[in-house]
Amino acid sequence: MGKPALKSVWVFHVDSGSCNGCDIEVLDMLTPYYDPERFGIKLVGTPRHADALLVTGAMTRQCRYAVKKVYEAMPPKPRIVIAVGTCASSGGIFYDGYPIYRSKDRFGRDRLRSGGVEEVLPVDMYIPGCPPSPEAILFGIAQLLGVKENKMKGEHYTDKETEFKLLQYPIEERIRLSLRESLKKVIGYFDRERVLEDFMEIAGKANRAENPKEKLHALVTGYFLKEKDSRLKFSMKFLENEYWRLKDAYEERHVALTETHVP
Ligand code: SF4
Repeated sequence: MGKPALKSVWVFHVDSGSCNGCDIEVLDMLTPYYDPERFGIKLVGTPRHADALLVTGAMTRQCRYAVKKVYEAMPPKPRIVIAVGTCASSGGIFYDGYPIYRSKDRFGRDRLRSGGVEEVLPVDMYIPGCPPSPEAILFGIAQLLGVKENKMKGEHYTDKETEFKLLQYPIEERIRLSLRESLKKVIGYFDRERVLEDFMEIAGKANRAENPKEKLHALVTGYFLKEKDSRLKFSMKFLENEYWRLKDAYEERHVALTETHVP
């Protein structure tokens, strides 16, 4: 997301080969129920009036010319491209299908996440999910507008009664399971396990150091500088923040529960 915050954004929606799941959620997000116009988000009927392009679905060979034409018809600035859904972000479950367009051959991990919009257009924002909820799409666009900082605040709800039923598991394992769940919100199927595995390895090294917080931050920054894919970079930063939040909460609660359970 390298473009400046805007006051409003007019969007044009294009489907590059989706199963229609994401399209339904985009249409839902545009209804008065979610009222996106309160944030200045408005659907327009032509790319010539659009600031942003909402692309849904994997990039099919059939659609790539049309999508490119639509992009070229948009005014030159700001020309924002938003990939909505796992397919548009990374090819999703269709990544290996015969109709998927690939700008170059890719192998291994890279192949597993090719086939999205970025094969043809520069993407400014990825909104993962299969399909992402209307709230997630709205949240993504609101971030582009910079309204998130002004109008929303993060809140965490935890059910205190059920949180620590698995007391016999070590804290580190409970953290791993929680991270695995929350990582679903920020990255697709294929990369999730791998990113988590890399992160837990880094976290293990950091915990053996004298100052774990500083060490983890240094290791994540090293990973961040080496990794080119912005989705993986974002996931690592997300994991770093979540890790300390969970660790503090779990350790504090564990001590309280252990004291209560001493016979
Ligand atoms: S992300 Fe899921 S819902 Fe969206 S187009 Fe792909 S398969 Fe369909």
